[in-house]
Amino acid sequence: MLKPSALFSIDTRDITLVRAQLAAFSKQVPLLYFVLCINAVFCAVGFANQAPAWLAIYIPGVLVSLCLMRTMIWLRTRHVELTDAQARRRLRGVVWLGAAFGLVFLTWFLTLYRTATVPESRLLVIFAVVFTAISCMTCLLHLRSAARMVAFTIVLPFSLFLLSVGDPYLTVIGINQLLVIGAVVYVLDVASRDFDRMIQLSSENARLANIDSLTGLANRRLFFENLELALRNRSRSRRPFAVGVLDIDGFKAVNDLFGNVTGDRLLIEAGRRLIAVGGHRVEVARLGGDEFAVIVADARDPAELLAFGEKICETLRQPFALPGANAKVSASVGFAVHPVAGETAELLYERADYALYIAKHRKRGQTVIFSEEHESEIRNQSTLDQALRTADLENELSLQFQPLVDIDSDEPTAFEALARWKSPELGPVPPGLFIPVAERSELIFRITHILLRKALAAAQTWPDHIRISFNLSMRDIASPESIVEIQNIVRASGVAPRRIEFEITESALMGDFAQALASVTALRELGVRIALDDFGTGYSSLSHVHRLPLDKIKVDRSFLVDIESKGSTRDILKTVIDLCDNLNIACVVEGTETARQTEIVRELGCHSMQGYFFARPMPLADIPAFLATRRSGGVAKASSGTAVKPVASAAVRPASGAASKAEAEGERPSVPVEAT
Ligand code: C2E
Ligand code: CA
Ligand code: CA
Repeated sequence: MLKPSALFSIDTRDITLVRAQLAAFSKQVPLLYFVLCINAVFCAVGFANQAPAWLAIYIPGVLVSLCLMRTMIWLRTRHVELTDAQARRRLRGVVWLGAAFGLVFLTWFLTLYRTATVPESRLLVIFAVVFTAISCMTCLLHLRSAARMVAFTIVLPFSLFLLSVGDPYLTVIGINQLLVIGAVVYVLDVASRDFDRMIQLSSENARLANIDSLTGLANRRLFFENLELALRNRSRSRRPFAVGVLDIDGFKAVNDLFGNVTGDRLLIEAGRRLIAVGGHRVEVARLGGDEFAVIVADARDPAELLAFGEKICETLRQPFALPGANAKVSASVGFAVHPVAGETAELLYERADYALYIAKHRKRGQTVIFSEEHESEIRNQSTLDQALRTADLENELSLQFQPLVDIDSDEPTAFEALARWKSPELGPVPPGLFIPVAERSELIFRITHILLRKALAAAQTWPDHIRISFNLSMRDIASPESIVEIQNIVRASGVAPRRIEFEITESALMGDFAQALASVTALRELGVRIALDDFGTGYSSLSHVHRLPLDKIKVDRSFLVDIESKGSTRDILKTVIDLCDNLNIACVVEGTETARQTEIVRELGCHSMQGYFFARPMPLADIPAFLATRRSGGVAKASSGTAVKPVASAAVRPASGAASKAEAEGERPSVPVEAT
């Protein structure tokens, strides 16, 4: 049997329903109090000459004031975003407020009825009771418990009172009232249940539209909705929150090697791990592909945020036991903290994404928080981007050449072409700045092709045994069209392909490995050689060496930093040199700056080097003089046990002051790009 308390209880388990009921009720609030006020005022007027002042003036005065006060509270709070707990409390409050108002009005109506001196006044009270009850119940349509409460506290006792009087007319009226109100309760009940079902249905639809069906996490749409909500809440709580984005390095390889089903399993498991490390104060979403995002509710402490980012990286580094595969992947994380990094959802996301980009390029497998420094980087980059777009690239781009030296014969075996850009507005801009910016648009292709033509034209002027080494962008490697154009340029140049070497970096292999392999193969078919540049700075270096047809590895100069003091660095370098030896791949150590470094590298078994110790990058015009100096024995040959001597710097430097200035500018420009 239904307990009486169940008649007035409110099911607050479904928070979406609670919020929908509150929202529907909120729209009726002014009407509800308007009805109560009107009924109170007209009843009071009707009793002005019959009832004492406290009953006909003061009590209705208090009732009207209470209604006005509630309306004012509603006006002030109707747009405030409630937490789940607050919403539930408010809904229960409405039921009890209904009971309180019902009882107060009932008492007043009964007292008025008893003081009435003429039958018309009694009729007025009876009308007022029925009008008040029915109109209030209609306003409480979506809250059936509150509507029942009104029927229970006003109409039921009043009807029973009428029945108890013993007057046949009043008995008829009492029975009539009970039946009508019973019917109204029933109708409202049906309407309110329909409303509940509609809300539940649409909330299920909304849930499906907002959930990523693979992982069950919030999808992109819900992520941005939650972000907007966090922004609105933050205006009250003032507590900084953070947006984090991450993607899984190596996911594509898992998908390619083991198939989509295994890839999907990895994503599901990654989602689970993210929820586990995030705990209750972090919302996790999958934005698409292998891209995930988090909203961290409290990001007051940057150190804590960094530690959280590291936890994410750590959990995703743990091997994934998948059917048929034990996959190892990694992740980098970028965070943007509100409000310092941005005030809108789009900006926060963009900046977290930029921080992720920085993490991937400079701190792979780690966490980066968007900072002021990044802000000015972005400004500089857009200045650069604008300048590049309007540049006369054919005339403003040039090349400098740095030799690769065989230290046994003490001869340069090749020159690496290094891009230089002298912008009329910005001055000389180093390639480390403008290449990454160009890589973000299609401009990089034009730059590669213009520079390649210049590099090959330069190589035409050198002795036949000296090769030209040219840097390709990762975008070139990923673009079949660019590779075709590169092939055309090589064929048209007249330079023998065996004299050409293309340098590619590991970042070119991180994306679509199959495409990278196809590009490298197509280039090698021309007869050119392929070198893997900056070896040791990328991620899974060895797997690339193993899977790509490489002719050469250029060991990054970071290996040399503490080579004079640390035995372990020497051991690592030795391992790399031996690896190249075993695989029959040529090895060059980049960035040798001192005689001691050169000697150590030579002792470790590498005989090909490039670095300031031998020569800085130089303009084309200086190459004949440089070659002549070498031939005239400007360098003492390295012999075992004796340190290698550099080319006397004055001898290799361009004779003219203007040229050396150009080189110096090209190498380390004194005017960094300024933000406008
Ligand atoms: P990279 O390919 O690793 O080129 C070597 C860089 O190291 C050059 O810087 C060179 O000047 C510098 N370097 C050489 N020896 C030493 C040394 O002993 N000590 C030190 N500290 N540095 C040394 P640069 O010319 O500023 O080029 C920077 C990067 O820009 C290049 O690194 C390459 O990744 C990129 N780049 C340069 N030219 C091109 C180009 O034509 N196309 C593409 N896609 N990238 C280019
Ligand atoms: Ca290079
Ligand atoms: Ca390099």
